[in-house]
Amino acid sequence: MNVLVVGGAGYIGSHAVRLLIDAGHTVRVYDNLSRGHAAAVPDGLLIQGDLADRPKIVKTLKEEKIDAVMHFAAFALVNESVNDPALYYRNNVIATIELLDAMMEADVKKFVFSSTTATYGEPEIIPIAETTLQQPINPYGFTKLVVEQALADYAAAYGLGYAALRYFNAAGARPDGTIGEDHDPESHLIPIVLQVALGQREHITVFGDDYPTPDGTCIRDYIHIDDLGAAHLAALEKLELGKGICVNLGTGRGTSVRQIIDTCREVTGHPIPEVMGKRREGDPPELVADAKLAKEFLGWETKYNDPKSIIETAWNWHKSHPTGYPK
Ligand code: UDP
Repeated sequence: MNVLVVGGAGYIGSHAVRLLIDAGHTVRVYDNLSRGHAAAVPDGLLIQGDLADRPKIVKTLKEEKIDAVMHFAAFALVNESVNDPALYYRNNVIATIELLDAMMEADVKKFVFSSTTATYGEPEIIPIAETTLQQPINPYGFTKLVVEQALADYAAAYGLGYAALRYFNAAGARPDGTIGEDHDPESHLIPIVLQVALGQREHITVFGDDYPTPDGTCIRDYIHIDDLGAAHLAALEKLELGKGICVNLGTGRGTSVRQIIDTCREVTGHPIPEVMGKRREGDPPELVADAKLAKEFLGWETKYNDPKSIIETAWNWHKSHPTGYPK
C-alpha cells in the first residue's frame, strides 16, 4: 500500500515507518517537525508541512496516490494538556479533523489512529478491556476520546474505515540502535532512568511508593515500540470501509516503577541512585491492558515479553546517542 505516516518523525511514528518499509509498503512522512526529528526519517521520505495546511495535504494524498493514513502527530504530555488545553484541542482535535476532511476530499478512506489508555481515566477493573467506560481525567485523554467519537461518526456518514489503537506505555527502540526515544523535555520513566545511568542526571525520583500495589509503586504495561508498530501494520490489513475498531495495545503484563529501575540497574550495570518523591498528580496506581482483542482480531503477538528485553533495546539507543538526534 501507499501509506502516508503523519507524525512519522516522532518516536512511535518513526518506528512504524521502518516496519512499513520492511514489509514492502511505500511510505511518505508528513510532519511539521515541531516535536519530531528530521534525522528520524529515512532520506527522501519527509514532506514538511502542517495539518492546518489542507491544500498541501490534499495535494500530497493525490500526488502520492495514498491508500491509507497513519496518524501519530499529536501532543501527549498530560501536564502540558492541563496547563494549556487550547494547545491540545487545537493540535490533537482540530488538526485531526482537518486531516480527516482532507482525506475525504481526496477520497482516501483508510485511517489508523493513535489513541491512548488515557481515554479510560482511572478504571476500577484491571486488566482494562476495550469495553471499559471511557472517562478521561485530563484534557489529553479528552482530546483523544473526542477524535475516537469523530471517527465513529465519519465511518457511519462518509464510509471511513479506521482503527483506533489505545496505547499503553510505549518503550524501547529499534534493536539496530538507529532510531529511538528523544523527547525534550523528557518525562517518561525509562529514558529518565537511563539518563541517570549515562551520568546526565544525578538520580531518579520515584513518584510515590504508597500506592496500593505489591511494592507501593505504580504499575504500568510497557510495550515494545516495534510490537506496537507491528500492530499498526496488522490493523492496516484489517480496515474495512464504513467500519471502525478500537483496540488496546499492551502486553497484559504489569511492571512496577521499582521493577523498571531494578531492571535498568541490571541492564546498565550502573547503581542508578533514587530518591523518593511525592505522588505525581493524576497517576492511577495500575494500568494494565486486557490484550485479548488485539491478539484475536489483529492476529498479533508481542515479541518482547519481558521488561528486560525492552530496556536492553532502549539502552542500546541511549548509549549510542547520549544526546539524542543531531539538533
Ligand atoms: N515515574 C516516576 N519518576 C519519573 C517518571 C515517571 O516515578 O521521573 C513513574 C510515573 O509516576 C508512572 C510511571 O513512572 O507511575 C510511568 O510514567 P511515564 O511518564 O513513563 O508514563 P505514563 O504512565 O505516565 O504514561
